[in-house]
Amino acid sequence: MSLNTSVIIDLSALRHNFVLAARAAPNSKLMAVIKANAYGHGLLEVADALSLADGFAVARLEEAIKLRNAGISKPILVLTGFSQASELLEFARYDLDAVVHSEYQIELLEACVGFAPISIWLKINTGMNRLGIEPVELARLSDRIQLSAKVRLPYKLMTHFSCADDMDSPVTQQQIKLFDESVAGHTSEQSLANSAGLMGWTYAQRHWVRPGIMLYGASPFSARKTSDDELKPVMTFKASILSLRKLSKGQSVGYGASWVAQRACLIATVGAGYGDGYPRHARAGTPVLVNGLNAPLVGRVSMDSITVDVSQCPNVMVRDEVILWGEGLPIEDVANMSETISYDLMCGVTERVERIYWGVDDGK
Ligand SMILES: *Cc1c(COP(=O)(O)O)cnc(C)c1O
Repeated sequence: MSLNTSVIIDLSALRHNFVLAARAAPNSKLMAVIKANAYGHGLLEVADALSLADGFAVARLEEAIKLRNAGISKPILVLTGFSQASELLEFARYDLDAVVHSEYQIELLEACVGFAPISIWLKINTGMNRLGIEPVELARLSDRIQLSAKVRLPYKLMTHFSCADDMDSPVTQQQIKLFDESVAGHTSEQSLANSAGLMGWTYAQRHWVRPGIMLYGASPFSARKTSDDELKPVMTFKASILSLRKLSKGQSVGYGASWVAQRACLIATVGAGYGDGYPRHARAGTPVLVNGLNAPLVGRVSMDSITVDVSQCPNVMVRDEVILWGEGLPIEDVANMSETISYDLMCGVTERVERIYWGVDDGK
């Protein structure tokens, strides 16, 4: 057992979650979304562990090239596509799939010479209003793509949901309807669903689903559902107690002396702070798991440490290990108390935190 601040990455939990996704979308191919260093879990380790995936999606060309160079031979989709000619050449060289979301990219395809045709996913904006061509442009732009000798045909069609995490929102139905109307008559393969789309809107599953967050074991919904309990957390963020101190009523803890003891209590100083990726905005009362019991965070989060009221935890000792999120403490609970979301916490664990991989060879 390491006393260091560390994250355990449980690759068997990752594979478990992948199998749940595959069962939930039995007629779809699964593109595992491993952008942003696989949501902080390690790009190559996660790609290796997900040998069952039909493809991978990343946000940046560099991530895709890393995967190819590591020997990943499955389709790799770059969700932002290319924005200049030099990048286009790399897509061809590494046989990467590109999202085409804007007309200027089609112009680049037409203008560039000296590369083999590439595979593209034409993205339609159905309401996210971030990336994607407008539905009314589809006919004209698809004609141009068909005529360009630089695209491997048939190309694929995709869109992205803005509110699929909210089962009460009418927006997802509207987006599906707009997508279906726009692509009527096109026989291309389609991809609409992220994790929440896959789990909550089965009609949106289509040829390819693009799960991200659920693979890492966090709920894809803004309000956790009981079915989410089948997901297993992949990342467990651990640290240990550096010091214990008794405070009497009226004494404060930490910067700004913002938290003041209302009664005598026992405070543990734990060796993880925002310099490790623990959210600085975590409110007093954010749960920290100490010897299997939830104990409340008190005082401000520092760069290298946090303080926790362990008065209610029996037999606490210096060097005891605590869990900041993961096994036994859902990351959503910490995110909710910190004005953020699980994605942000996962991505935010910093370099100096040791990553320890479990289950590397299981299931191979
Ligand atoms: C990040 C992303 C996903 C995965 O979303 P989750 O909510 O993590 O499942 C899917 N598609 C696109 C286009 C994305 O950017």
